[in-house]
Amino acid sequence: MRLIDREEVARRLTYPVCIPIVRDAMIAFSRGETRQHLRSIIPLSGPRLFGIMPGAMAADGPYGAKLISVSPDNFAKGLQSHQGLIVLFDPETDAPVCVVHAGEVTAIRTAAASAVATDALARADATRLAILGYGEQAATHIRAIAEVRPLSAVTIWGRSPDRAATLAARMAGEIGIPISVATDVRQAVAGADIICTVTGAAEPILQGAWVRSGTHLNLVGSSHAGPAEVDNDLVARARFIADSREGVLAQGGEFLRAKKAGLITDAHLVAEIGEVLAGTIPGRTSRDEITVYKSLGHVVQDLASAWALYAEEDGGRADQAQSSPVGLE
Ligand code: NDP
Repeated sequence: MRLIDREEVARRLTYPVCIPIVRDAMIAFSRGETRQHLRSIIPLSGPRLFGIMPGAMAADGPYGAKLISVSPDNFAKGLQSHQGLIVLFDPETDAPVCVVHAGEVTAIRTAAASAVATDALARADATRLAILGYGEQAATHIRAIAEVRPLSAVTIWGRSPDRAATLAARMAGEIGIPISVATDVRQAVAGADIICTVTGAAEPILQGAWVRSGTHLNLVGSSHAGPAEVDNDLVARARFIADSREGVLAQGGEFLRAKKAGLITDAHLVAEIGEVLAGTIPGRTSRDEITVYKSLGHVVQDLASAWALYAEEDGGRADQAQSSPVGLE
């Protein structure tokens, strides 16, 4: 059985490779071509979770599952927040054929999915990016969003200004775009065209009142029912698009809070990103609209990315690796 380790994922699953893979996977998902169960989450002690994500790319396509631990306290230890395995089965033989490093695939495919959504939903002239959080997803989101818009400036906010400054210095050197640190969330988003929330916050850190008309947001940090990074006002004001309608109606923290408060109904979730990408439902409908892409993360993103690495020949070399996320070398 083939093993694709972290180094190989980082080297070969580049953003130009992963972004179209995720795009196609989300279109196939929304067309009903893929098969999957709603993610099952087993709560462990404290904030720790164990996720089980099975799926198939098509009835006769590659299939498998991602087994993933989520450990919010790992950031302080220099470990990935998500660790686990993607197991791939070959539809020709129905044999398990490959095990892939799920932490690295998750880090890259999540940001690639946000880049796909940003490309579809942000204004064409969006150039200023605000990142709330300075962990692994912050680094991968800066890299991925830079692939779909010509960024002129990035602003990072996090609870520790020093750690935000460390990431800013590192990423500015890597991608060659000016990156500043904001002292508070309001300042961070004041001039932003695109906002990515990539924190472990349990309660809202971002208020709708601070977000300018015309902004696009990727809400990524809360990946199960409970935590919410943004307030109900922002959810209610936005044109709200999800990776998976079923997933977000069951597990989308921000959406469920606004619904519970009586501000929205299920109809407020206007589309899946795959429907927007396929042209069946419009994405942004006006220049001034606030658009939200709610990411819970989907197994088809993992399976499609992992299968591409398995099925295509490895023609690269170890010294061509993408930069490792901050603190995770
Ligand atoms: P990391 O552990 O690497 O980073 C977490 C970040 O959140 C750090 O900047 C941390 O900084 C910050 N943070 C934690 N608690 C708070 C808080 N209460 N307020 C503000 N900031 C906070 O995690 P990742 O970058 O890997 O993931 C970021 C988030 O995205 C996580 O919640 C993760 O579960 C989620 N995620 C979602 C995925 C999806 O598909 N939607 C996939 C992968 C991750 P500090 O503690 O110093 O403030």
